[in-house]
Amino acid sequence: MSEKSELGIMDIFVNPMKVTMKQFFKSTFGKPATVMYPLEKRDPPPTYRGMNAIIWDLCIGCGICAEVCPNRCLKMKPVELSDEEHDRAWYGSHLAKRKHKPERPAINFGHCMFCGFCEDYCPTGAMTMTDFYEMADTSREGLIYPARTMKVDLEDLPQLPLTNYMMESPVLDIDPCIGCSKCVDNCPTNCIIMDVGPHDKTLKSGKLRNVENPYFDYTLCIGCSVCVKVCPADCLHMEPTSNSSLSGLTTEESPTEA
Ligand code: SF4
Ligand code: SF4
Repeated sequence: MSEKSELGIMDIFVNPMKVTMKQFFKSTFGKPATVMYPLEKRDPPPTYRGMNAIIWDLCIGCGICAEVCPNRCLKMKPVELSDEEHDRAWYGSHLAKRKHKPERPAINFGHCMFCGFCEDYCPTGAMTMTDFYEMADTSREGLIYPARTMKVDLEDLPQLPLTNYMMESPVLDIDPCIGCSKCVDNCPTNCIIMDVGPHDKTLKSGKLRNVENPYFDYTLCIGCSVCVKVCPADCLHMEPTSNSSLSGLTTEESPTEA
């Protein structure tokens, strides 16, 4: 006997009808699954990652957020500070202080996937993901937010320790170093000093010259690799922070500090 002939009237009409009626009453009189947005809004869950905000007072312009962004949607841009901002800002590098123009991140939300890497790796806690999600725009350009539009202030500035989430620190190859001190000028945590030596070098002319070389305070280094990028002589490279070879170059062990 075929399977079809075993089905009764209950299976063919009554049960499906019951399901349909249940759905009808539930959707007509029950609680709706959606809300009347934008008149009504739901609170995002606590772990929701929305638009970024940057606490400028904490930002040191190290560029780590731009470095770790997988979609390359963050860019560091120079900004003018007002007098009040100038007094509060933690500028970062000596160069930024001299120029009165620190760099702050700008972001293209058209490319952002809200992964939160920038927040995770920020060494000062300046980069923050908020729960704001209303960023829709009629043009792509409208999704590009200049640095100042993401600025937020804090009433009381927390004293956050610098953290090297990159787990890397610079190592110097002393021979090619020309003692230009570009690394010192550009380090956002000011953790490099030039040490007078003795680092005698023979110049092309055959003369002996004492060249200053950088020493690093690894307790303040955040692993941003800015020093490596600005070095014109390619004498710096990054190594895992746990590498024991780093211990020979700390500021505390610098000959001039002794
Ligand atoms: S990682 Fe943090 S401190 Fe560094 S530039 Fe980005 S927001 Fe500023
Ligand atoms: S990586 Fe270089 S520039 Fe960055 S904090 Fe460390 S010493 Fe300074």
